[in-house]
Amino acid sequence: MTFAIHGLPVSQGIAIGRAHLISHALLEVAHLVIPPRHVEAEVTRLEDAAAKVRFELRALKESSSAAQSEVSAFVDLHTMLVEDPMLVDSAIRIVRERRNNAEWALVQQMEVIVGDFDNIDDPYLRERKADVVQVVERLLKALLGHPAKMPSRRDKDNLEAIVVAHDLSPADTIHFRDSQIAGFVTDVGGATSHTAIVARSLAIPAVVGLRHVRHICHDGDIIIVDGIRGVVIVDPDDRVLEEYRLRQNAIELERNKLKRLKANRAATIDGIEISLQANIELPRDVTGVKEIYADGVGLFRTEFLFMNRDTLPNENEQYEAYRAVARAMGGKPVTIRTLDIGADKTLNTGGPRPETNPALGLRAIRYCLAEPQMFLTQLRAILRASLYGKIRILIPMIAHAHEVDSALAAIEQAKAQLRAEKVKFDEHIPVGGMIEIPAAALSLGAFVRRLQFLSIGTNDLIQYTLAIDRTDEAVAHLYDPLHPAILRLIALTIQTGAKAGLPVSVCGEMAGDKAFTRLLLGMGLQQFSMHPSQILEIKQEILRANATDLAAKVAKLLKLDEPEKIREAMEKL
Ligand code: PEP
Ligand code: MG
Repeated sequence: MTFAIHGLPVSQGIAIGRAHLISHALLEVAHLVIPPRHVEAEVTRLEDAAAKVRFELRALKESSSAAQSEVSAFVDLHTMLVEDPMLVDSAIRIVRERRNNAEWALVQQMEVIVGDFDNIDDPYLRERKADVVQVVERLLKALLGHPAKMPSRRDKDNLEAIVVAHDLSPADTIHFRDSQIAGFVTDVGGATSHTAIVARSLAIPAVVGLRHVRHICHDGDIIIVDGIRGVVIVDPDDRVLEEYRLRQNAIELERNKLKRLKANRAATIDGIEISLQANIELPRDVTGVKEIYADGVGLFRTEFLFMNRDTLPNENEQYEAYRAVARAMGGKPVTIRTLDIGADKTLNTGGPRPETNPALGLRAIRYCLAEPQMFLTQLRAILRASLYGKIRILIPMIAHAHEVDSALAAIEQAKAQLRAEKVKFDEHIPVGGMIEIPAAALSLGAFVRRLQFLSIGTNDLIQYTLAIDRTDEAVAHLYDPLHPAILRLIALTIQTGAKAGLPVSVCGEMAGDKAFTRLLLGMGLQQFSMHPSQILEIKQEILRANATDLAAKVAKLLKLDEPEKIREAMEKL
């Protein structure tokens, strides 16, 4: 029977394919009662998984530097938990007594332990609950073999695979680069979560926040993912399939037409030159950036180099990655953002401890300043690569002037070390800051005096101004880029930067959404950074716009505070 589910559209385009259900390690382990003859094999699986995790943890400890005492402490604690008879031995007992499969036994035992923690008054001990969950997740990954094997692009009926999951982390999603899936849909997630951002960078249709798709949809069902309207159609009839195939072709045709704009420079009718740069996650993304003739890399989210691995990338590995991008861009600017880990972007190596409000916790520059050795390693790698192109350093999530001072001091320290080692680098490498916390946007003077450029991260600016979690579909309807407070903060940043003679760009998702191009141009924005796949569409908008006219209209729009009036003014832009 055909039915449609509505969620949040996160990535343009339409995909038609076969559902490929993947499970979330903790939530969706199979519940099986196994035949007596399989019990001992199941026990061995559990013992092997525990041995594998112990080995992984030992390797992790050996590879982390002495300065990373945080890593060392969590590794010791996790090793202790894997070895604790309360966990694995008790799970083995459940396998033998109840004949449950290893995964289910482990999760049952975890629930017992976690329940005991909840009854403890000591907040420190209560927090250790998260460690138990993490260890169980590691064990489940070892049992299940993670990451799950992705399907190949087409099946025997020539249908593409569409991943259906309860949730996907940004780290999971980045794996799709190698498996070439046609699209994905998830129960949870927000439209500017990093999972959605990765979908956009892969240019595959995706819909998130569907709530129950993982349970309603069956493996092998034919589904349509409408990434424009945020709709998933399960088991469509021939008429609906035909309709969507026609729409798919129309989109393809439109995309091909846009390719004609590739070599055109982006300028408004009244002659304002606009720089259109690209956001990338991994060095290999630079191929797409060059194909589209982008004016540079406006945001290199380096944290993706650190994900899906059990050790941190060392200085040389990072240096090679940054150098490859700088070289490939042949003298065009490459903005390397220092590690922005935390919130929905997590590391296998531990990273910031799980917190109650991770988006408000030890994220981005806060984490880097708490891990000076790791930060220094990255800065040295960026500086060394700066000889091979026009690299700029971008510091994420600044809120306090002293954070910028500390980051600049760390850059100076890295420079001094390299000078002492007679290693060359760009002595005048520009350092900029992300304006993505309202506090920074409202106290720009302190940042303008310390930095050479600014980049507005609208994804976080909206999250932190409106107090809504960008990854939570339950509050996604409150995520409003047109809220008057957001408009004023963006306009203020652009204007203050211009007055101070500092280049300002927008690198959040608003930059790549053509619904906002005219608004941003009217605010005076001259640098946009977005996924390469969005550049031509935005260029087309720019070529049709008159910045002087827009400036007058936007000045009036910025005085409005009634949502309805703002929307009307947007339509008239
Ligand atoms: C932003 O917050 O807008 C941004 C560009 O950074 P990220 O999406 O990586 O947090
Ligand atoms: Mg951000």
